[in-house]
Amino acid sequence: MMEIVLATKNRDKIREIKGIMKGVKFLCSKNLPEVKEDGKTLSENAIRKAETIADYTGKMALADDSGLEVKALGGIPGVKSARFAGEKVSYTKNNRKLLELMRGVSNRKAKFRCVIALASPGNKTIVREGICRGRIAEKPSGRYGFGYDPVFIVAGRNKTFAELPPSVKNSISHRAEALKKLYNVLLKMERRRRK
Ligand code: IMP
Repeated sequence: MMEIVLATKNRDKIREIKGIMKGVKFLCSKNLPEVKEDGKTLSENAIRKAETIADYTGKMALADDSGLEVKALGGIPGVKSARFAGEKVSYTKNNRKLLELMRGVSNRKAKFRCVIALASPGNKTIVREGICRGRIAEKPSGRYGFGYDPVFIVAGRNKTFAELPPSVKNSISHRAEALKKLYNVLLKMERRRRK
């Protein structure tokens, strides 16, 4: 079974990544170096995280950088999704700020974007992206998921991500799309190696 170090300490992301890529053994550690997420784009942050952890551990490392982009707000919070209402604030505070900014706004279109980077020492880093479209709810609802899930209504479902069970979110999310693309690349590489 393939072994990959997870270059993230976010327990919610770790749970989802493991739920989506069931055929991979993920190695998690609390002792990995902190990597600053001050890049201008999700890709920049994901690549930096994956490459730093691959260099540090000498193993294949996977990083996820993701965010919510709201059309009427010009694409924010985007790369700053985790710290929208301030450094180290709760998911609830970020959601509250978002709903306040969106009060009375009729165009509620939004999308989640997830960038996955897979780095291994001496190899070119692989980067794949996934998107999930939807709209911002008027108020939070649902008990599953994390982050902005209670305020994001998934296109075509009429439910927030937090109202959908994890198995459903993990089959249609931005993270699922990016990881499926990455998995296909890994399969191709494996087939080529065996030839
Ligand atoms: P980062 O990728 O660690 O910079 O943080 C991304 C932030 O975006 C998280 O803290 C969440 O607030 C939000 N986010 C990313 N993916 C999701 C998701 O699948 N559901 C809800 N919120 C998400």
